Amino acid sequence: MSRRVALGFGAGAAGFAAVQGPAQAQAAATLGGEAPLAATVDVIVVGAGFSGLTTARGLRAAGHSVVVLEADDRVGGRTKPGKIAGETVDLGGQWVGPAQTRLLALAKEYGVAVYPQFTTGKNIVDLAGRRATYEGETPALSPMALAEFALAIGRIEALARKVPPLRPWEAPDAEVLDAQTMETWILANAKAPAVRSALRLLIRTLACVEAGEVSLLGMLTMASAAGSFNEMISTRGGAQDAMLQGGVWQLAAKMAQELGPAVVLGAPVSAIAQDDQGVTVQAGARRWRGRFVVVTAPPSMAGRIQYQPALPPLRDGLTQRMPMGCVIKVHVAYARPFWRTAGLTGMVLSDRTAFGPWFDHSPEGGTIGGLVGFFAGKSAQLWAERSPQARREQVLKDVALYLGDEALKPTDYIEEVWAAAPWQRGGYAAAPGPGALTAFGPALRAPVGRIHWAGTETAEAFAGYIDGAIRSGEHSAQEVARRL
Ligand SMILES: Cc1cc2nc3c(=O)[nH]c(=O)nc-3n(C[C@H](O)[C@H](O)[C@H](O)COP(=O)(O)OP(=O)(O)OC[C@H]3O[C@@H](n4cnc5c(N)ncnc54)[C@H](O)[C@@H]3O)c2cc1C
Repeated sequence: MSRRVALGFGAGAAGFAAVQGPAQAQAAATLGGEAPLAATVDVIVVGAGFSGLTTARGLRAAGHSVVVLEADDRVGGRTKPGKIAGETVDLGGQWVGPAQTRLLALAKEYGVAVYPQFTTGKNIVDLAGRRATYEGETPALSPMALAEFALAIGRIEALARKVPPLRPWEAPDAEVLDAQTMETWILANAKAPAVRSALRLLIRTLACVEAGEVSLLGMLTMASAAGSFNEMISTRGGAQDAMLQGGVWQLAAKMAQELGPAVVLGAPVSAIAQDDQGVTVQAGARRWRGRFVVVTAPPSMAGRIQYQPALPPLRDGLTQRMPMGCVIKVHVAYARPFWRTAGLTGMVLSDRTAFGPWFDHSPEGGTIGGLVGFFAGKSAQLWAERSPQARREQVLKDVALYLGDEALKPTDYIEEVWAAAPWQRGGYAAAPGPGALTAFGPALRAPVGRIHWAGTETAEAFAGYIDGAIRSGEHSAQEVARRL
């Protein structure tokens, strides 16, 4: 424990209130009255995902005492390990790109190797009733559609370049961009059915919402934070370039191990009260006292916490306008990667299936076969309501449509319905609807008194990604350390 820790284990609320001023007494009364005080630290961090763990690491390295309160019974948040056919896979965040330097540095620090996404062979694309195979990154569309597709991507890139990722509301014509959804933009900028379909599929795959749900400015902000739209959609050299041997989740586990008892699992924060000297945070039947609190849960989940005094209207409004995307992630194992012998990468992009896209996810060397894919957006909403058995049948049927009947005979199957995860309620990240960023965006990062906001959604670069979560943790640790 560092210099500022004053342990108060077992101290009752009455005793706690007695040594504090009237404001703290009122805060204590708001927070469950008799709940015992577990500890007093410099900074309380809410959430043990990559952002919260990085925040805590940074603060501790600067000599401050921390506690990380995590609602779930595990760390990692939107990253999670799963076992399939004896292999550990990622049920949440997974890929890393060469520009994601913070995640790569963390992997290096912990000695975890990175290996490339398999891309040898042909991908399959099936859009607007036209099926084709292609190599590389550009989907095989008819020459006319391809030209229109390239133009549309070029326009998105040009718009994204003008959006400052930390202050999208200051972009030229920000209000005009934010008044549109990606769907209205697609309808105005693409005519060919295949191009419209391709763009809708990309938005669904990138943000896990339908194009009509996300603001154009919101999508441009994500692209700007990632460096470009192309960075987000690309495999080789882009955001889907590589994966971590043994899964990315292990990095969260290693950070938590280092933090030791400072990480408290099964501690769902229900209320945060602040006064002029500090914060009191209630989780379950206990309270923690700190000088500052950093909330790393995404805005919609942060909005479920009670605040005393109530949050300013701008911040509360933001939490109501940045809903999570909807996604179900699925891994399927096979005796062998049979699609490779047919010269295919395994990657399929189709607008005919409920499931998809999916990608090869065989362990290095291809000893067994693995595919990983998604139900996303509306399809995820629909299929989250069905039984696991029904989902599995649909996945295998969809895969068999393109990769053949061998797809109907998996050796193993595993899935994660993120919309049903009690402390995430969706993924990959928050997707702002029209008008949200221009009207409420400034509240995304602005501290409210002693409450600071972190999490991937607040990152300057790679917002929505694990790399962004790490960056947001580094930033919040520095921001809070300056006030300690
Ligand atoms: C299916 C899926 C696939 C993805 N694929 C990729 C990918 O390939 N590459 C990539 O870079 N990113 C990917 N992502 C996104 C990436 O996982 C996230 O951006 C990142 O993990 C977010 O980290 P975070 O710390 O900001 O938030 P989180 O991981 O959400 O952490 C917040 C934590 O707060 C906790 N919490 C919430 N409410 C409370 C409360 N009231 N009290 C206490 N604790 C609370 C949560 O349990 C959680 O642990 C994917 C995500 C999903 C779901």
